[in-house]
Amino acid sequence: MVVSPVSNKALMDEGVKDTVNDACVPIKLFHGHVAALKDSVDIMFIPRMVSLDNKVTLCPKFLGLPDMVRYSVSGLPELIDLRFDMRKGKHELYNFLFRIGQRFSDNRLKIGQAIWQARGSFVNYRRLLLQGCTPADAFEILDGDRQLPQEKRCGGIKLAVLGYPYTLYDDYVSVKILDKLRHRDVEVVTPEMVAASDMQRMGKTLPKNLFWHYSNRVVWAGLYYLLDMNVDGIIHVTAFGCGPDAMTNKLIELEAKNQRKIPFMTVTIDEHTGEAGVDTRLEAFVDLLRRKRGLL
Ligand code: SF4
Repeated sequence: MVVSPVSNKALMDEGVKDTVNDACVPIKLFHGHVAALKDSVDIMFIPRMVSLDNKVTLCPKFLGLPDMVRYSVSGLPELIDLRFDMRKGKHELYNFLFRIGQRFSDNRLKIGQAIWQARGSFVNYRRLLLQGCTPADAFEILDGDRQLPQEKRCGGIKLAVLGYPYTLYDDYVSVKILDKLRHRDVEVVTPEMVAASDMQRMGKTLPKNLFWHYSNRVVWAGLYYLLDMNVDGIIHVTAFGCGPDAMTNKLIELEAKNQRKIPFMTVTIDEHTGEAGVDTRLEAFVDLLRRKRGLL
C-alpha cells in the first residue's frame, strides 16, 4: 500500500492547477495528493462516498469526487470508485468492504478476516478519540509509539474547535491550529471527541437538520459543547470555497453569540493563508477568553 506524502505547498499548488476554480481548498488539495500518487501505484482508491448513515448524504463534492478526479488529472491508473451508501441498508458497509476485497482476492475467508481486523482497529481508534485524543495522537498510541496521557493538559480554558476532519487534522490546511492552542495550554475539544449518542441527542434539539453529514456533525458538536460542556469559546475552522459552511458557520455563530453569549471566532483557510495571521488571531482570542474568566 502506498500513501501520498503529508500535505504541503507543492501538493496544494499541483492541486490548484488541476482543479476547477470554484472548488474548495480540501478538494484542491485532494487533487494534489492524487497527482503525487498516480505514477507510483497500479490502482487508486477513490470511493464514491454518498451516505455514512442511513439518512443524509455527504456534500456533493464527495459524491462526484471520482468523476472530478478522472476528468481533471491525466494519466491516472485504474480507480476503485465503488459507491458507498448506507441508505441501502445495514449490510452496506460489509458489502462495500467485501466488494473491495474481491478486487484483490477470491478467498472469502481472507476478506472476512481482513474486515474483522479492520473493525477491531477502528473500535480501538474510536475509543481513543472519545478519550480526547486527536487522530494523530490515536495513531501514535495504536502504533505503540507513545502512551495515552494520564491527565489532560488544562490551563483553565476549554475551547471547542469545530470543522471537518479533513480540515482540522490536516496540519497544512489547518495551519496546526490544534497544536498551537495546546501549546498555549488550552484544552481543545473537537467533533470527533463527541459520542454518537450525544450527537444524536443534539440533532433532535433542532427543528430541522442540514442536508450534509459532516455539516450536521459540526453543528451538533457545537451544540453539545455549548449546552453540555460549558466551553469558554468556539473556533470554527472553515475552508474557503465551502458551500455548506455558509450555513454551518452561521448556525453555530448564532447559537454561540446570541443564545449562549459565548465568544465565537471563524478562521477561514485558503491556499494563501499565512501562519502569522492565524497566530495573531488565536493569541488575541485566547487572551480575551482568559481575561473574561479572570485568568489574566
Ligand atoms: S463540505 Fe465544504 S470543504 Fe467539504 S468537500 Fe464539501 S465544499 Fe469542500
